[in-house]
Amino acid sequence: MPLPPYLHCLTLPTPFPVGPVNVYLAEGEALTLIDTGPKADLTRTALLAGLAALGYKPAALRQIVLTHHHVDHIGLAGELATASGAAVITHPQTAPWLANYDDQRLRQEPFYRNLWVEAGAPDDILAAMKTASDSAAHWTDGAAATQLVDEGDTLTLGNEPWQVFHTPGHAGSLICLWEPNTRTLLANDHLLRDISSNAIVEPPPNRHGPRPRRLLDYLHHMRRMAALNPAVALPGHGEPVREVAALVARRARFHHRRAQKILGIVSEAPRTLWELTQPLFPRLTRPLDFFLAMSEVLGHLDLLEADGLVAPRPAGSVVRWTRVAAALDYTISHDPATA
Ligand SMILES: [Zn+2]
Repeated sequence: MPLPPYLHCLTLPTPFPVGPVNVYLAEGEALTLIDTGPKADLTRTALLAGLAALGYKPAALRQIVLTHHHVDHIGLAGELATASGAAVITHPQTAPWLANYDDQRLRQEPFYRNLWVEAGAPDDILAAMKTASDSAAHWTDGAAATQLVDEGDTLTLGNEPWQVFHTPGHAGSLICLWEPNTRTLLANDHLLRDISSNAIVEPPPNRHGPRPRRLLDYLHHMRRMAALNPAVALPGHGEPVREVAALVARRARFHHRRAQKILGIVSEAPRTLWELTQPLFPRLTRPLDFFLAMSEVLGHLDLLEADGLVAPRPAGSVVRWTRVAAALDYTISHDPATA
């Protein structure tokens, strides 16, 4: 099935290791841009050229929809909103990042510092991760959300109603948009064809309660989006996904295998998160990669803990993950392929 004719993908270069980001333009009574790319010269130049090739200037935008709070998706929202007066539409959890990215980052800093100290990460890695995080706000400008949307709401793109799904996992703030007639899912970073989205560890949304188990959330909401049976899922990076159910099953198998491998290592002796990350990712150099690697391994430990197979045990200033069940056969309870 072809894409809705009013929907265009603009693939924009970014200065980040992830490579280009896809933003989408929906033509119609309210010209709508879904995500913007980061505030970087090469991204802005490509966006303006992409809009011009379709016959538009930024001033023509009437809606800007932001799918989640990461800088490679929201960075240009402020200047585009100023240039156009467009409505800025996003999830309540993205809005504070949009309003003041650095303020949110600083509020979260103690959570991450405690987490990585407990993980047993060395001081030089902690310092490098902090330096990298300090500069993230450089890639985004402030913007005020003018309309908040959540699960069950509807947005008009191309004069058609699109349903909003709140699908936390890659980010707690993340929304997908769904058009049931063409069975098109605007999936942004929730479903990527060629790389596995990181279910990035985050503090609790209101700074109360337990840390969200983001990989469990992610697997749950991946299964939910696959159950819609999309003809196509349009991602935030890379090529469209046509075989959504097969991709989701593949991702679930990957996480299952990785969790099993980690269970094997923990079964030999209790380990810190840092000690577990080392053998799985031995060649990392960039601070962001250490962050993402520990986040991913922590997600797998969360899966194992939810299945009653491992538990975190405090040991001085660190936490050691310890095997707590003797069963030899490990069956994951959170496998979308078997659910
Ligand atoms: Zn993202």
